[in-house]
Amino acid sequence: MTSAPPARAVVVGSGPNGLASAITLARGGARVRVLEATTTPGGGMRSFLNERFGTVHDHCSAVHPLARLSPFFRRIGLQRSVEFVTPPRPFAQAMERGSGPLGRTVATFAGIATHAMLPPGAPLALGTGLLLGGAGLVAGWPIPIGGTQRITDFLVEHLEELGGEIECNRPVSPHDLPEEIETADLVLWDTDAELAHSAAGGVDRRSGQIGEAVTRRGPRRYGPGAAKADFVTNAPIPWSDARLSEAATVHVGGTWRQMASAERSVGHGVLAEHPVMLVSQPSVFDPTRAPRGLHTVWAYAHVPADSSVDPADLITREIERYAPGFSKTVLDARTSTAASMAEYNMNYVGGDIASGATRGLQLVTSGHAGVRPGSGLRGRLEGVATAPWTLPRRGWYLCSGTTPPGPGVHGMSGAIAASLALRQRRAEQSPRGRR
Ligand SMILES: Cc1cc2nc3c(=O)[nH]c(=O)nc-3n(C[C@H](O)[C@H](O)[C@H](O)COP(=O)(O)OP(=O)(O)OC[C@H]3O[C@@H](n4cnc5c(N)ncnc54)[C@H](O)[C@@H]3O)c2cc1C
Repeated sequence: MTSAPPARAVVVGSGPNGLASAITLARGGARVRVLEATTTPGGGMRSFLNERFGTVHDHCSAVHPLARLSPFFRRIGLQRSVEFVTPPRPFAQAMERGSGPLGRTVATFAGIATHAMLPPGAPLALGTGLLLGGAGLVAGWPIPIGGTQRITDFLVEHLEELGGEIECNRPVSPHDLPEEIETADLVLWDTDAELAHSAAGGVDRRSGQIGEAVTRRGPRRYGPGAAKADFVTNAPIPWSDARLSEAATVHVGGTWRQMASAERSVGHGVLAEHPVMLVSQPSVFDPTRAPRGLHTVWAYAHVPADSSVDPADLITREIERYAPGFSKTVLDARTSTAASMAEYNMNYVGGDIASGATRGLQLVTSGHAGVRPGSGLRGRLEGVATAPWTLPRRGWYLCSGTTPPGPGVHGMSGAIAASLALRQRRAEQSPRGRR
């Protein structure tokens, strides 16, 4: 009896979820090739060197509340290979003086909830607040020593040890699919859901029919944008409230009510007077990030989609409100407007760093809510349960942070999609599945 040849798998995109998919597939015996549009792997998990000052900055993810808790990262031993530092406080809220303890607690929760880029009272924002707040209490909000790039380097190395390959400078156009994708047994998309659906064309390979769910899908909705600045300073941020200096992430935006109003504004396409911002100073906790006497500040503001507002001015002005004198410490600023975010990473449509996952129910409807043809009640139930990750083409899956459990560096969306792909392929290859 001969055993089945290994599955040939292609993963489009090499963000944390693309790499987690590729590793899971390779561990499951597949021959894996990753096609990445940009010059380097890692997606939202990359760092860069400011050569003039010798400082290391994280393009996107900097603080990793879920790194220690992710079952995927535990499984592959991330903690044994990448060193993290845990700041004394996971998060803190920048507020005017005079807010009482209750107002401060409520505002602190609101700050965490706005990671969803929604008003803090929205159901998904409440869930995000509970998840990230809980993670902070359980395991802190760790920062990788040397930069988020260390996580990427570890995942790439691990994948290559398993025989996987990554090819950069390979943007995949949904309208002109390369042969290796057309002929692959499994294709996983670490991309925007719309792009993956467009590539899938809504056509089921086996039946040749247009999937009902695809024709029912309306245009995907995207959220507001992020405008980012990476500063080099000659001192830590001079926060008026010393507690803020101990936090991995400082949320800037005032009270619950002020943040809710700011998030509603940007959701309606209007720049808020005082936008919600996230600020971190990795060099305060990780001295490898900057030469002695220098510091790195990572910050982004929530702004309207596609906005071209200058992040350096906006962010400096807002930090200055809670840390007078900050602007005088700034030596350099590298910036990305919301509009330019999409050039850095095709998934960030209009600067939406969640790629639409936090709009309505899109986190669970990103995939294909269809039913596997001819597979009875069990198949129907499986179709519903696996809908967020499946695409309307046999062997194709969505694996990016647009699928559950959602955005953030944890690799779980990718690991779940890949496990599902392997399981469904095994089922299809079993004597019953082939019938
Ligand atoms: C400014 C900012 C700050 C953030 N801060 C944090 C943080 O502190 N902590 C945290 O946990 N998370 C943070 N995040 C979120 C985190 O980075 C993302 O949730 C995570 O990177 C999503 O991973 P992913 O693999 O789904 O997609 P991505 O990381 O976006 O990777 C997708 C990859 O696919 C590639 N790609 C897309 N389309 C194609 C195509 N057609 N062909 C080929 N390649 C393609 C892209 O180039 C990219 O490399 C931040 C994000 C941003 C932008």
